Amino acid sequence: MKHATFADLGVSEVVASELAQRGIAKPFAVQSMVIPDVLAGHDVLAQSPTGSGKTLAFGVPMVERIKDSDARPSALVLAPTRELASQIVDDLRPIAHARALSIAAVYGGAGIVKQARLAGRAHILVATPGRLMDLIERRDVSLKQIRLLVLDEADRMLDMGFRPVVDKIVKMCARERQTLLFSATLQGEVGKVAKAYTSDARRHEHAHSEERKGDVEHRFVTVAHEGKVGRLVAELNEAERGLTLVFVRTKRGADRLVKRLASSRVQAVAMHGDKSQGQRERALANFESGVVDTLVATDVAARGIDVAGITHVINYDIPATRDDYVHRIGRTARAGASGVGVTLVTHEQKRELAGMIGGLGLQRELALGGLAGDRTNGRKGAGQRPGASRRRGRAPARA
Ligand code: ADP
Ligand code: MG
Repeated sequence: MKHATFADLGVSEVVASELAQRGIAKPFAVQSMVIPDVLAGHDVLAQSPTGSGKTLAFGVPMVERIKDSDARPSALVLAPTRELASQIVDDLRPIAHARALSIAAVYGGAGIVKQARLAGRAHILVATPGRLMDLIERRDVSLKQIRLLVLDEADRMLDMGFRPVVDKIVKMCARERQTLLFSATLQGEVGKVAKAYTSDARRHEHAHSEERKGDVEHRFVTVAHEGKVGRLVAELNEAERGLTLVFVRTKRGADRLVKRLASSRVQAVAMHGDKSQGQRERALANFESGVVDTLVATDVAARGIDVAGITHVINYDIPATRDDYVHRIGRTARAGASGVGVTLVTHEQKRELAGMIGGLGLQRELALGGLAGDRTNGRKGAGQRPGASRRRGRAPARA
C-alpha cells in the first residue's frame, strides 16, 4: 500500500506503539485512505467490506482528535448491534487509554443504571441507537458536545429500521462536528442519509481487501428438506474443521437446531436476539475458546462476531439476499486464513439461490452443486434490484 506505517499516516507514537504491541504494524487499505482525511478534519464516507479493518480506520484518528480535557462525551460511535458495540469498545480501549481517554459502550439488554454512570464519564461513547435514545430521554447523556460522530455499518442500521432514531440522534449532535460514515454500500437510502449527515465529505470506495482474505471454498449441497439435519451432522463430523458458524433464518430455528444436533450428539450453542446479554457473551466466550466448536446464529446475531479460527461457515438455511450470503461467508477466512462455506439447498430453493448469488462469480461451484442451468429463469434475490446491486464481495476469494 501507499503507506508503510501508522506513523507515516500521522498517527502518534503512543497510539502506534500500542497497536504494534497487538501485532498491528501496517495499516490496511481502508485505514491508509481514511486516517489522513480524518486527522485533517474532513467528513468521510467509506465503503469497504467486512474484515477490512474499519474499526481502526475511524478509531485511530478518533483517539488522536479527542483530548482528555474535552467534554464527556465528545465522540460518538453508533453501531447496529450490541455485539458490535462491545467489540468496538474492546478493540479501541487500549488506544483510548494510551491517550488517557475513557470509552464506554451502551446497548440494550443490559442494566441501564451502570451504563448511565459509565456513559456520563466517557469521552468516547459507542452505542446502539435505541439504548442511546433511552439514556438521552433519562437525561443521563447529552450529545450537545459531540464533535466527532461515526456511523458504523450504516447500511445495517437502516436495514434494521433505525433510521428515525438515528435521524434524531444526529440532529442532537453539535452542528460543528466531523461525521464519518462506514457502510457496505453507499447506494440507495444509505447514500441519501450519508449526504444529509455530512458536509463536503471525502469518499472512499474500496471493493476488496486482498491483504485480509484468504481463499474461500464455496460448496453447495442439494438436500431434501428432511435430510438437512442429517447432512449438517455429516458436515460437522468431517475431520478437518475448526470453529464452525451455522446460519439459520429464525431465532426459534436456532434453538430447535441446537436441540436436534444434541440428539445426534453434536454439541452446539445458539446465539440470537432473544438471549440475554449474559447468555450471548457466554456463548461467544465458549465458542471463541473452542469449548463448544459450533455456534448456531441468525444473521443479525452474527453481526459483529469477529472470531479468529472460524474454518467453516454453513448455511443451514439459505440467506435472504446476496449481501447476507457475502456477510455470512465473510466470517471465515479472516486475517488471510482459508475457509470453507457450505450452503444446504433444498430442491425447491435451487433456482432462488442460483438467481440470488448469480453475480458473485461462483458459476463453477454452483454447477458442481447441481445448481447450474437455472440462471436464465433465475429471479433476482429479495431486495436486489439490478440498479441497486451492491459491489461488495464480487469475487469469491474476496467475499
Ligand atoms: P471491519 O469492521 O472492516 O469488518 P475490523 O475493523 O473488525 O473489520 O477488523 C477485522 C480484523 O482485522 C480485526 O481482528 C482487527 O483487529 C484486524 N486488523 C485491523 N486492522 C489491522 C491491521 N492494520 N493489521 C492487522 N490486523 C488488523
Ligand atoms: Mg466493523
